[in-house]
Amino acid sequence: MNRLRMAVIGVGHLGQHHARILSQMHDVELVGIVDSNPDQLATVARKCKTRGFDSFEPLLGKVDAVSVVTPTSFHHHVAAAFLKHRTPVLVEKPICKTVEEADDLIRIAQSVKVPLQVGHIERFNPAFEELIKRPITPKFVEAERHGPFTGRSVDIGAVLDLMIHDLDLMLTLVGSPVVDVHAIGASVFGGNEDMVNARLTFQTGCVVHITASRIAARPKRRLRIWAPEGYAGIDFVTRKLTLVQQSDELRRSGLRLDPASRARLNDEVFGRYLEVLSVDGNRKWDQLTNELRHFIDTVRTNDVPRVTGEHGRDALALAERILQSVRSHPWNMDPKGPTGANDMPKPLGKLFQSASDETEAA
Ligand code: NAD
Repeated sequence: MNRLRMAVIGVGHLGQHHARILSQMHDVELVGIVDSNPDQLATVARKCKTRGFDSFEPLLGKVDAVSVVTPTSFHHHVAAAFLKHRTPVLVEKPICKTVEEADDLIRIAQSVKVPLQVGHIERFNPAFEELIKRPITPKFVEAERHGPFTGRSVDIGAVLDLMIHDLDLMLTLVGSPVVDVHAIGASVFGGNEDMVNARLTFQTGCVVHITASRIAARPKRRLRIWAPEGYAGIDFVTRKLTLVQQSDELRRSGLRLDPASRARLNDEVFGRYLEVLSVDGNRKWDQLTNELRHFIDTVRTNDVPRVTGEHGRDALALAERILQSVRSHPWNMDPKGPTGANDMPKPLGKLFQSASDETEAA
């Protein structure tokens, strides 16, 4: 089998892992990497034993496929250039900064008939793969995605940086249009929003509460789903799926609450009445390897990728509706008062004395 000649554009925090994994794949030749930061470029090129380029132009038409892992603001420019050379593209999430840019990439990919895949990596998380193959019709969902502030991806806010993962998962799981969006968000460091909560109602009646924060002390990435079929919980960090369903006895005869069984009820809830299955998704492959392998297979077969440009665009369009709702939220229910993530009501005072207050007072 011919080795697929590939390049990675942008080898920062995430792109260096794209480059590392591709450089270790037996059927891939990592012909080059590109980065505008010369030190980072040299370090990753040395580790991956490949050539470093300070711009992507010399690689146009010279590779069979490319991973675009630059900051989001450059996704459209870089991905469009490679697609125009009939080169299949894996572009990181969010697909682009605007829906117009995303539609343009989709149009170019369609006109040259090559795969365009979007890096919604949680679709390749083994715990989500285990869930999606089962019958489930979500009716109420809580999605939480919290991470510490990294100082990266500041060209976008928490919605496009973090929440976009869960928006794509929800659109995939629920599979119907969103009919109502209410969102609230705040910027702590100024600029884009750092924390957002949204309530989405889907045409199927499913209601989703979704929170993203990039200023949390500890990472948390989880999904909890209530459905007629039962409950599903995913911890994306540990890649664990927990499923709970009513036992046949509960479905048939209901809960038996005679005095003797009431004493044992706590012990019997899980087991006798509710059955639990824990699926450990910690397999041999991590989700990034899984995603890159899928992309390579898609390129070889010229097939439709699991996460298409249209999926990326739909998640982005929903993200834009959420951002619009965040911008128009009046904090005091007064449209003339403070509104949106960057215009907060004045604080009443400090919640507690700072250490510096005490030093100044002494
Ligand atoms: P980063 O800032 O660490 O890395 C970006 C790199 O691109 C830097 O090394 C920078 O020097 C380089 N760069 C900037 N402009 C460039 C250009 N025009 N050409 C070539 N190189 C350029 O950011 P990151 O955290 O690695 O994020 C990169 C992308 O990956 C973003 O789109 C982000 O949303 C996405 N991302 C996705 C996930 C995920 O879970 N799928 C996680 C993190 C980041």
